[in-house]
Amino acid sequence: MRNRHAIPLVALLLAAVPIALEAQDSRIYAELDRRVTEVNGKVVAWRRDIHAHPELGMQETRTAALVAAHLKSLGMEVRTGVGGTGVVGVLRGGRPGRVVALRADMDGLPVTEMVDVPFKSLVRTNYNGQDVGVMHACGHDNHVAILMGAAEVLAGMRQQLAGTVVFLFQPAEEGPGGAEPMIADGALDNPKVEAVFGLHVWPGPAGDIIYREGPTLAASNTVHIKVRGRQTHGANPWGGVDPVVVSSQIVLGLQTIVSRQINITTAPAIVTIAMVHGGIRSNIIPDTVVMEGTIRTYDMAMRGSIFERVKRTAESIAEASGATAEVTIDSGYPVTRNDPALTQRMLPTLKRAVGTNSVTVGPLITGAEDFSYFQLKVPGVFVMLGVTPRDQDWTKAAANHSPYFFADESALPVGVKTMSSLAVDFLMPPATRATP
Ligand SMILES: [Zn+2]
Ligand SMILES: [Zn+2]
Repeated sequence: MRNRHAIPLVALLLAAVPIALEAQDSRIYAELDRRVTEVNGKVVAWRRDIHAHPELGMQETRTAALVAAHLKSLGMEVRTGVGGTGVVGVLRGGRPGRVVALRADMDGLPVTEMVDVPFKSLVRTNYNGQDVGVMHACGHDNHVAILMGAAEVLAGMRQQLAGTVVFLFQPAEEGPGGAEPMIADGALDNPKVEAVFGLHVWPGPAGDIIYREGPTLAASNTVHIKVRGRQTHGANPWGGVDPVVVSSQIVLGLQTIVSRQINITTAPAIVTIAMVHGGIRSNIIPDTVVMEGTIRTYDMAMRGSIFERVKRTAESIAEASGATAEVTIDSGYPVTRNDPALTQRMLPTLKRAVGTNSVTVGPLITGAEDFSYFQLKVPGVFVMLGVTPRDQDWTKAAANHSPYFFADESALPVGVKTMSSLAVDFLMPPATRATP
C-alpha cells in the first residue's frame, strides 16, 4: 500500500510547494507592510530630529550615535567609526543565505535653511572662513530615517529572513566622500556583501520611484589649470606673455572636445570651466591665471579620453603662445551605474512596493554620487524617491542643495517599504519573489 501510493503522494506534495510558498510570500509582504505602517511615527520623528540637527561631512557624530544606538537596540552587531564617522549594522536572518547591503548617507550642507517648518535647522558653522547655516539641503536626513525604519522592520522579521542584511550609514557623500573610506575599512567584508541598494530623495511626485538601468548619475571630476605667462605692463604686451589671452583660448578650445572630438552617440559629456582668476589691475598683465572646472561623463573609457584631451588642449594652446599650462584632474566620483541584470530582477519588487504606475524611468542625472564606489565592488541599484507634495508641480520644485529644498513626509513610508522590500526579495529564493 505504502509503495503503491508513494509516487502520487510525492507528486501531490511537489504540486503543493509553489502554492505553499506563495501563501508564505503574501504573509511576508503583509507583515512587511504592517511593520512599515507601525514604524512610521518613529521614522517621521527621527527625520525631523535629524533635520533640525544637521552635521557636515565627517562631522556626523550626533547622527552616527543616534543610528548606532538604534541598531544596537534591535540586537544587531554594530561597528562605529567606519571610514570616519560611518556606522555598519549586521542583521543575521533566521536561516543562512546571501548577504545584501542597504545604504544611507548622513551629511548635511553649508546652506542656510529658508523653509519654514517647525523643525527648521538653526545650526550655523564656519565654512571656508564664512559664517553660514547648515541644512539637510540634499535630504540625507530622510535617507537616515528611512534606513533606521527599514532596520526596525527587517529586525522584526529576522526569523523569516534567509541571509544577512548589512546596513551602511556613510559620512560625507557631499565630499570628500565616505563610501570609499568605508570600503577600505572593510564595510563590504565580513559578511561579504553580494549586492547593494540605495535611494535618494528627489523632485518628483511624492512616493514615486524613478530609476534607470545602466549609467544613472555622472562621474564627476574637478579640473585645475594653471597658466603661466610672463608679467608685463598692460600697455606693453610684447614685453611678456599674456596668460589672460592664453586662458581665454584654452576655455574656448576645451569646448571643442565634447562638440567636435567625442562620439556623443555613445554617451553625453560635459566640460565646464566655472572659475577664472588672474590679475589685479587694469594695466598690469599678470604672471599667472588659475582656472577650475568640472568634467561629467557616463562612460569610464570616454572619461579617460576626455582627461587626455583636456590636458593636451590646454598644454598645446599654452605652448603655441610661449606660455605653459599645468593641468591636474582629481579622482572625483565614478559613474553611478545600475547593474542591468540586478535592476531587471528588482523591478517587480519596486512595482510591488510603490505600485506599477508609480515606477518610472528617469533621465540621466548630471550630478554625481559616491554610492558609485559600492557599485564598483558589488552589483548595485540606486533609485530616486520623489518627495514633491502631490498638489505641487514637481518640475518647479526647489532642487536638491537649494535653501528651499523640501521633502514631503508622505514619501517616508514608501522609502522604508522600498528598502525593506529590496532586501527581503533579494534574499528570497527566485521562485518565490514578488510579481507586480
Ligand atoms: Zn547632494
Ligand atoms: Zn545627496
